[in-house]
Amino acid sequence: MTQKLHIVGGGMAGSEAAWQAAEMGVDVVIHEMRPKVGTFAHQTGNLAEMVCSNSFRSDDDEQNAVGLLHWEMRAANGLIMKTADAHRLPAGGALAVDRDPFAEAVTAKLRSHPRIEITGDEVTTLPDDGHWIFATGPLTSATLGEAIRAETGAESLAFFDAIAPIVYADSIDMSKAWMQSRYDKGETEEERTAYLNCPMDKDQYEAFIDALLAADKTEFHEGETAGYFDGCLPIEVMSERGRETLRHGPMKPVGLTNPHQPDVKPHAVVQLRRDNALGTLFNIVGFQTKMKYGAQTEVFRMIPGLENASFARLGGIHRNTFINSPTLLDVQMRLKSKPNIRFAGQITGVEGYVESAAMGLLAGRLAAAEILGLDLPEIPKDSAMGALIHHITGGAEAKTFQPMNVNFGLFRPVDGLKGGRRGRKDRYKAYTDRAKAEWTCWLEQS
Ligand SMILES: Cc1cc2nc3c(=O)[nH]c(=O)nc-3n(C[C@H](O)[C@H](O)[C@H](O)COP(=O)(O)OP(=O)(O)OC[C@H]3O[C@@H](n4cnc5c(N)ncnc54)[C@H](O)[C@@H]3O)c2cc1C
Repeated sequence: MTQKLHIVGGGMAGSEAAWQAAEMGVDVVIHEMRPKVGTFAHQTGNLAEMVCSNSFRSDDDEQNAVGLLHWEMRAANGLIMKTADAHRLPAGGALAVDRDPFAEAVTAKLRSHPRIEITGDEVTTLPDDGHWIFATGPLTSATLGEAIRAETGAESLAFFDAIAPIVYADSIDMSKAWMQSRYDKGETEEERTAYLNCPMDKDQYEAFIDALLAADKTEFHEGETAGYFDGCLPIEVMSERGRETLRHGPMKPVGLTNPHQPDVKPHAVVQLRRDNALGTLFNIVGFQTKMKYGAQTEVFRMIPGLENASFARLGGIHRNTFINSPTLLDVQMRLKSKPNIRFAGQITGVEGYVESAAMGLLAGRLAAAEILGLDLPEIPKDSAMGALIHHITGGAEAKTFQPMNVNFGLFRPVDGLKGGRRGRKDRYKAYTDRAKAEWTCWLEQS
């Protein structure tokens, strides 16, 4: 066996990818630039360093999508999960991890693997040959970022995310909201009704602005703002610039008629746009925010129609390098313009330690199978792994693509189950049962 797999970045994704490929019998070289070249967030030279919180979030594999992802990674001999379990700290239903021993153990395990070599170099180009996985994360080094930008085009690589909150469609009160594009623009009925609109009268608008101004906000981390620009201002910063600013920006009411009250002109309108092909998720247009999570749910539930909204993810703005995966990657995470290169981890537009490691697990297996000449069956869409990879490589709206956590809104509905909050428990159990069966079957066939 002469063909090696090169993995750039030994974070959550790169470490898991290396482990999976090596366990399948492929020789791996990990190129990790730390500690020679640092980032503003990493503190050590260890692989798989957790840069901020020490939580892998919920460990509930029956009622929570991230817990299900834990389950699937454990079933697939995942190094990150196995090591996290070994260094677990008490945290109720969450999986909290003792970060330093965790990263030291991952590093030791990879260093001692007979098929894995670790080099300390920064990779600055996208090679034309060989098998490569780029898993350089949210803080990809600047020179490599430029090389990726040259390959993908400036509009396909972002250095900050600007995440607007995402709402489950079935939690929106359609007796108050309605579907309509501004001025009914569009060639087809689908385009003319592409937006979901929530109306506000003057009192509701004024109360909403007061709540935005008073809400608790998070700050950027030190060093995080370098290169931050004015193009994606948080909604609360826009409201600080004047009480009417939002009414002339993302909340302008023009070109819209409320069919529930056709004679009343709304004072302001909040618009939501479909976020996935399944139509199960809607993002609140222009509502990127740095409000704290608790404040966000309180403030956004003041919007008529969203009083009982369930959020698939809340908003945020972070330093985050990520590519437009829905347009750039094929279903095997290969760069369409250079198929000898795969991307994995947070740079593909997933977010979080767990999701990043999960995409590393898939990329490692897919790359190893290619090198070994094995045909892997398609990754099952109804598993958490499958829901996530299919979202980033095609299911997500490419034009508005922003990083995504795993959530049940990415899953195909199970027929015959009650929607809304009441049916949630049974629905989630049905999703996780189906996912486990499909993932187990895929592992057996792989
Ligand atoms: C400030 C900050 C706070 C965060 N807080 C959280 C949180 O609380 N919870 C959470 O779940 N997620 C958080 N994240 C996101 C989290 O860091 C990622 O989800 C996860 O680490 C991504 O895994 P990854 O493998 O894709 O990238 P990383 O884990 O970042 O690994 C990428 C690796 O690539 C290396 N690298 C970069 N460029 C090169 C190069 N050119 N050559 C060689 N090596 C290179 C880096 O040194 C790094 O080790 C945070 C991110 C940031 C930036």
